[in-house]
Amino acid sequence: MKIPMSSPDLTDADRQAVMEVLATPHLSLGPKLPAFEQAVCQYTGAKHAIAVNSGTAGLHLCVRAAGIGAGDLVITSPFSFVASTNALLFENAIPVFVDIDPKTGNIDVEQVKDALLHISKYLPRQSAGVKPKALKAILPIDVFGQPAAMDKIMTLAQEHGLKVIEDSCEALGATYKGKQAGTFGDYGVFAFYPNKQMTTGEGGIVITNDEQAAAFMRALRNQGRAPGDTWLSHTYLGYNYRLDELSCALGISQLKRLDEMLAKREQVAAWYSERLSELPEIEPPFIAPETTRMSWFVYVIRLDSKIDRAEFARRLEERGVPVRPYFLPIHLQPYMVERFGWKEGDFPVTEDLGRRGLAVPFSGVMTEEQVEYVCQAIRTALHTA
Ligand SMILES: *Cc1c(COP(=O)(O)O)cnc(C)c1O
Repeated sequence: MKIPMSSPDLTDADRQAVMEVLATPHLSLGPKLPAFEQAVCQYTGAKHAIAVNSGTAGLHLCVRAAGIGAGDLVITSPFSFVASTNALLFENAIPVFVDIDPKTGNIDVEQVKDALLHISKYLPRQSAGVKPKALKAILPIDVFGQPAAMDKIMTLAQEHGLKVIEDSCEALGATYKGKQAGTFGDYGVFAFYPNKQMTTGEGGIVITNDEQAAAFMRALRNQGRAPGDTWLSHTYLGYNYRLDELSCALGISQLKRLDEMLAKREQVAAWYSERLSELPEIEPPFIAPETTRMSWFVYVIRLDSKIDRAEFARRLEERGVPVRPYFLPIHLQPYMVERFGWKEGDFPVTEDLGRRGLAVPFSGVMTEEQVEYVCQAIRTALHTA
């Protein structure tokens, strides 16, 4: 048996929705764009939504909307997909990393507090000639579909007059103390790459209650063309971050089934946890009591530190079970080391989870039989270790 790492959950209705767009002359900036944005507003309860062609583009627009520029400091964590930090680097801002909670992998609020008091202690060793300036924002990540401790983060941000950009790219539909992920900060971002909970092919969306910021981000998405600008007139430096109509149509269709798709992912996660919690060498994902709804993005197990992960992974691959280390710490990516001088040992919890974490095949279309096959391969790989 060969198990895929992830699979989108697509139906004939999804395919039909895309085909219908192809029967019209409107392939971009047509009626599907506002309809998709409206649907995301309705789902999340946000006032405004700005659809873009990737989650990364969405994060970048938030950085611009927050007025974050060269040398500005933003508190975030290095246990994430690189995009959350890259969006800051696009504007020459300086990421101020703090370590993570060892259970959830989300930003450690106690360290955020400490960084707010002693910011210089948390600055990188070097910053490629960019002088550190003012602290502007906090950028928490809802890691693997579990919301960060958003109430505490919002309190700290308000006390210090900071903006909050919520990277909820892995957490559409999750709730924290009953409230939707992405709706806590000034801006929240979701992403729709095919391995996410729902997909538009490529794509992402920003949500916000700030009308002015929404208008600004809409302009930047479309080459800086502000409301009132005529064709080929551009008020701002902008980008082509537009999401095409085919993607928007797929998004509308997928969003209708999101709750159903999340329930299927929850079931697959439960099949895994049932089986894997019996194995002492493996720690299944931890769900915090504040997480009132987990939006399962990936299923990441942590191996006992005595297990050789590379060898374990090789044995699984041999049995047709692909796995991925999750995450490789951002501060140790080569260009980050070169630019900021971070070293191994700087963020020990991030590094520890980075060394022991392994994503196993996961999607809402997996069958219990496939999960059992993966778990049997894991048992065998452990016991031949
Ligand atoms: C998926 C993801 C993004 C956005 O990725 P794109 O490929 O640009 O859509 C951003 N941050 C995190 C944490 C993600 O997992």
